[in-house]
Amino acid sequence: MTPVKDRVLCQNILETARALAPQGLGIGRSGNVSARVGSGMLITPSGVAYGDMRPEDIIFVDENGIAETHPFLPSSEWRFHLAIYHSQPEAGAIVHCHSRFATVLACGHMPIPAFHYMVAVAGGTDIRCADYALFGSEDLSRHVVAGLENRKACLMANHGQVAFGTDLTAAFELALEVEDLAAQYCDLVKLGKVNLLTDTQMNKVLERFETYNRQSPS
Ligand code: 13P
Ligand code: ZN
Repeated sequence: MTPVKDRVLCQNILETARALAPQGLGIGRSGNVSARVGSGMLITPSGVAYGDMRPEDIIFVDENGIAETHPFLPSSEWRFHLAIYHSQPEAGAIVHCHSRFATVLACGHMPIPAFHYMVAVAGGTDIRCADYALFGSEDLSRHVVAGLENRKACLMANHGQVAFGTDLTAAFELALEVEDLAAQYCDLVKLGKVNLLTDTQMNKVLERFETYNRQSPS
C-alpha cells in the first residue's frame, strides 16, 4: 500500500537533486536521489529535468520494487537504490551522479586508493570501482552492492558514482567529497607521483573518524 507521501521529504529530495548541477555533480538529467521510507523509498522520476520536477513527482517504490501509480516512472536506477537500502541498514538517503572526475576514474576502471587520508570518509582504505553493467539492470544492482561492502560510496565503471548517508545532507556531502578526492587523484596521477598511505595508517584514520564528529553551529 502506498503510504501518504511526506511533502517535506519530497521537497528535500527535489532540492537535493536540483543542487547536483550547481554543485558540480553532473549536468542535465543525469543522476538520481532517494530517501528511505519504512521498508520502501521515495525516489526521483526517470528522465525528468530537475527544473521541471515538482515535489509530487517524487515516486514511492515499495520494498518489492513496486512503484505507486503515477504518470512518471521511478528512476531507472530504482533497483540499486532499493538494494542499497536492503543491504545497508544505516542508509537513509542515496545520491547517484555522473560527476566529472569520479566518472573519469570510473571510465578508467580506477578505484581511488589511499592517496589522501580523507579517502576513509567513504568508510574504508579505498573507494572501489564497481564492475560495469547496463544502467538500470539487476547486474548493476549486484555490482553496486558489492562495491559498497563496508563502504558508503563507490565509483561505478563507465558510469559515475554513488554515495549514501543517514540523510540527504550526509549523502550529498559524501558525493561531493568523493568528487573532490577523485579530482585530486586525477591530478596526482598526471603528476606521476602517488604516495599511498599504508593500511596501518589508514586504519588509524578510520579509528579516529569513529570519534571525530563534524560539528554544525546550533
Ligand atoms: P534516471 O533519470 O532514470 O534516474 O537515470 C539517470 C541516470 O543517471 C541513470 O544511471
Ligand atoms: Zn547514472
